[in-house]
Amino acid sequence: MDIAPRPVTVGFPFINESVYSEFRKLLNKFDITLVPKINNKLNDLIILGKDKWKPGEKTGVVYLEKCLDCSAVYAGATKREHKVRHMEHMKMKNKTAEISIHMKSLNHTFDESCYIILDTEKSWFKARVSESLHINFLGKNAINVQKDVYRLNNEYKDIISAFRE
Ligand SMILES: [Zn+2]
Repeated sequence: MDIAPRPVTVGFPFINESVYSEFRKLLNKFDITLVPKINNKLNDLIILGKDKWKPGEKTGVVYLEKCLDCSAVYAGATKREHKVRHMEHMKMKNKTAEISIHMKSLNHTFDESCYIILDTEKSWFKARVSESLHINFLGKNAINVQKDVYRLNNEYKDIISAFRE
């Protein structure tokens, strides 16, 4: 028996009206509603404190870490405290190796304090969609291995790349 899909709302950076409305139209096809977010200029990262996270919350958090030595960035989603996630990135592990590989191969540093929270989502699914959108927006600066938009199609990815640069 079919269950009606729950509406999905995704926070999205408000770059400008035309970009935003293009994305909104496209995502409507997937029953995803966009909510505008204040745009953090991706090349102008602000280091925020750690107070965005309330300990114990299981809300999905989408975060962006930046290399201290170059323009490399890593976007990720976690259900846990960013600090905990960061410690995993420092180790060589299957899914989180991008940061440690970058650090070891170039002798660069990702510091625990150099990150911003891009998004918080109560639904883990929505957090993953948001993570994918941000990875795609970051483009070539993103060191994430997985750059596919989560459960979205190529038409959407083409629009992202058209607006990115
Ligand atoms: Zn670097």
